[in-house]
Amino acid sequence: MFIDGKWVESRSGETFEVFNPATGASLATVPSGNADDATAAIDAASNAFADWSATTAYERSRLLYRSWEIMTERSEDLAQLMTAEQGKPLRAARAEVKYAADFLIWFAEEAKRVTGEWLPSQRADQRFLSVKAPVGVVAAITPWNYPISMLTRKMGPALAAGCTLVLKPAEATPLCAKATYEVFVDAGVPDGVINLVTAANPAPIGDVFTSDPRVAKLTFTGSTAVGRKLAGKSAANLQRVSVELGGHAPFIVFPDADPVHAAKGAAALKFLNAGQACISPNRLYVPASLSDAFNETLCARVDKLETGNGVVDGVGVGPLVNEAAVAKVEAQVEDARGKGAGVPVGGTRLTDGDHGSGHFFAPTVLTGVREDMTVYREETFGPVAPVITYEDPDEVIDLANDTNYGLAAYVYTRDIGVAMRAFEGLRFGIIGINDVNPTSASVPFGGMGDSGLGREGGHEGIAEYLETKTGGFAI
Ligand code: NAD
Repeated sequence: MFIDGKWVESRSGETFEVFNPATGASLATVPSGNADDATAAIDAASNAFADWSATTAYERSRLLYRSWEIMTERSEDLAQLMTAEQGKPLRAARAEVKYAADFLIWFAEEAKRVTGEWLPSQRADQRFLSVKAPVGVVAAITPWNYPISMLTRKMGPALAAGCTLVLKPAEATPLCAKATYEVFVDAGVPDGVINLVTAANPAPIGDVFTSDPRVAKLTFTGSTAVGRKLAGKSAANLQRVSVELGGHAPFIVFPDADPVHAAKGAAALKFLNAGQACISPNRLYVPASLSDAFNETLCARVDKLETGNGVVDGVGVGPLVNEAAVAKVEAQVEDARGKGAGVPVGGTRLTDGDHGSGHFFAPTVLTGVREDMTVYREETFGPVAPVITYEDPDEVIDLANDTNYGLAAYVYTRDIGVAMRAFEGLRFGIIGINDVNPTSASVPFGGMGDSGLGREGGHEGIAEYLETKTGGFAI
């Protein structure tokens, strides 16, 4: 753990082990913190706030710029570590490190764009000034699926705004968090400004983060169930809250689209990170007129995907995070099969050869998926592409919107009018139009409904860490 500028053990001396999900091998033992450690981290962040918030935007920008340089220099080592700890194939891990570093340079620049304004008064002897101030100490909780970029997406804007922070990473990926912290430490972050508490049991840390009156803001990325609970506690203590939660993304192919192109897009997108992404498509809506061509290409592509240890050349799909994740995917596939879905590709866990020591599920296509199947409503977080055949293009936007989630949606069409109407009609925070990667550090990321509150990245990303102060000057 990292508290007040020092790498420390937990106060209780307790530790937990971290495993490689592809091989089951133990990678390291890390400190398991409890409420006392979380409080010590908040002490440090709280004490450091006055000095850090008094630095100039240029100083904070320089720290972030230097962090970007160091992260970029270390990108190969970070990617190797990520593949070992989280499982995604090396190519995807390299892409994530680049994405993570993008937040550092983006917010190095945004730090210098925080401005205020003079506002008019009805009195001749009065002037109004409105400025932005950092909110204070930020508590951050991050998930395992993007174990470096989900940290920099919060740390970049928090530091740029002048906030100090405490962070608890997911139990499965504390090593990526440690390596990310080392980047900031080597860039020269002052003591106490960033603090890291690792823990086998997250609940006591979450309790402290959401109840300590010195914490001004909670920023959380993870499941809707946990985010909802923590946001409730934070709100009760009048902390500011941003929560980036789960999703259930529709992927709509309109009748005028090229079914082969759309199927290639779906195959590339769905199996990224073995489907363990909040913006992963969960419902592929294909018109009956294109269904044969779409399914043929999708199945051919998925059939070719190699599943295994992400360090091996050619592997396109890595392991799932743990046994519970495999069991969840298996249960959803069995439920769909039992209710009449076709399973032309995959459909089983993989246990042969080297797969036996990790948590693998075969890349799977389900056809004939219907509303009464669990997969139609619940987030899968695994390598399963459920295809739904629809008849009426006028109804497909309503079908797509029929979910409590609202994070990402995808549309394939060659008609600009159809694209625009879909973009306007879909109730989702991020929409890809013929585009399987509608994300970047430079644009807002976040969802509607049960997918969360607030936006990360873009200009809005730093606004989440600022509050407004108005001055009325009688002159
Ligand atoms: P999770 O909610 O189980 O865990 C997320 C984090 O919360 C982890 O650090 C975990 O230790 C912590 N946590 C769990 N219980 C806690 C408690 N009681 N108190 C405090 N902290 C607690 O989710 P996960 O399985 O790690 O991540 C997968 C989920 O995250 C998916 O639903 C996915 O869609 C979502 N996700 C969302 C985004 C986004 O930006 N919207 C990005 C990535 C992942």
